[in-house]
Amino acid sequence: MSPSLITVAYLASAVLFILALGGLSTNDTARRGNLFGMIGMAIAVLVTIIAFVSRNLEILIVIMLAGGAIGFILSRRVQMTQMPELVAILHSLVGLAAVLIGFATFMDSSIEYIGVEKTIHEIEIYIGICIGALTFTGSVVAYGKLSGMIGGAPLMLPARHWLNLVLFIAVVVIAVRFVGEPDHNQATMLLLAMTVIALLFGIHMVAAIGGADMPVVISMLNSYSGWAAAATGFMLSNDLLIVTGALVGSSGAILSYIMCRAMNRHFISVIAGGFGTSGGSSAGPSIEGEVQTIDTAAMADLLNAAKQVMVVPGYGMATAQAQHAIADITKTLISKGISVRYGIHPVAGRMPGHMNVLLAEAKVPYDIVFEMDEINDDFPDVDVSIVVGANDTVNPLAQEDVDSPIAGMPVLEVWKGHTTVVLKRGMAAGYAGVDNPLFVKENTRMLFGDARESLEALAQAI
Ligand code: NDP
Repeated sequence: MSPSLITVAYLASAVLFILALGGLSTNDTARRGNLFGMIGMAIAVLVTIIAFVSRNLEILIVIMLAGGAIGFILSRRVQMTQMPELVAILHSLVGLAAVLIGFATFMDSSIEYIGVEKTIHEIEIYIGICIGALTFTGSVVAYGKLSGMIGGAPLMLPARHWLNLVLFIAVVVIAVRFVGEPDHNQATMLLLAMTVIALLFGIHMVAAIGGADMPVVISMLNSYSGWAAAATGFMLSNDLLIVTGALVGSSGAILSYIMCRAMNRHFISVIAGGFGTSGGSSAGPSIEGEVQTIDTAAMADLLNAAKQVMVVPGYGMATAQAQHAIADITKTLISKGISVRYGIHPVAGRMPGHMNVLLAEAKVPYDIVFEMDEINDDFPDVDVSIVVGANDTVNPLAQEDVDSPIAGMPVLEVWKGHTTVVLKRGMAAGYAGVDNPLFVKENTRMLFGDARESLEALAQAI
């Protein structure tokens, strides 16, 4: 394949990836965005194979078929609720690939680099392996936290900031010794030492982050996996991989910034594990007050008498798969002339956009779904707020308790409405492990049970 044809094909892929990102920014165009992304990736893979693979094609095909089959089976099996873990573990694979390619490139003696080129090549390898290693272990720990295999509480080692600083200095010192080291064995040992440090740093970085700050970590690891891919592109001198990695890296960085802003956090404080914030490990004061329950019939009466209803979904809606039931209720209420809107907290659920994806799946019209900032001032006019499995994102303690791990995080102020009905199974805390005084407020009613079962019964009752 001629170099100009490869360039044109790579350019087309890059444009399709940009269109894919643009498409994914709104619900209406997301499907088209995904299609652009798939076409772009198909072109990229095909052209790369045709243009660069001259030996062992059969091994590559077998491996691609095996990888494709695993991906296909996983995508069929994975529940919507397991998507955040899946995304985390996929990020870890990008990191691992960057590490392995880094070592393979370092050991490849078929191309002789000299002078400045050698220095640049070594820096590329060093940075690629470093980012890849910390992305790998960081994502594995994130997987553990999201799947519940590891507790969500932050690991607060006594001198954690000093530890981070020492690890960082060690990485820099080893880099200075590695670049230009003439002895290949010595250079390999230095590279291995840095890899171990980066692996440890990845574990420590994510383990030190508390439950409520996890959304920032997810988007940050997303960004790191992009930079790891871009570094791999430099190592392999593959322009498209550089562009694609940079697109993922920068969009992940923007998402991390948006998440930080949504949670009123400083990026540096989050990645350093609570550095500079007063919030930390406290679970907040335990709540005092009486819980008032409501049954299906009474809630149906409440809704039938309402003019304005606000639905506030959270992670419990995802676990219960209650989105279809609430969508049915929405349809019925609207047909009765009752206004129904949805208020979405930016970190509701377990991954950015989690609630929007579920609501789109249940065909809830986009024009009644609002971001927190657009809708938070409207609660005083709301007659009934239906909180479907949300907890941290509607917790007033975020505003009231400066020592709480969620202190300062903006929340949906449902308690300012006339009546709030909270659907959950019991009095368990949310992901951040903080008790929620919303549940004992004067104007709150608890409808205990699985959200889907409760809503299906409610759909019949109204
Ligand atoms: P939370 O995780 O705070 O709470 C979910 C609630 O749902 C629980 O209290 C649980 O209570 C209830 N629940 C669970 N299963 C069911 C069920 N079958 N039926 C009814 N209720 C159920 O949810 P939020 O969405 O409010 O908050 C998200 C949290 O996750 C935030 O702390 C956020 O920082 C964090 N996070 C978000 C990420 C993101 O990217 N969006 C990523 C990682 C973490 P009970 O057991 O009593 O039923």
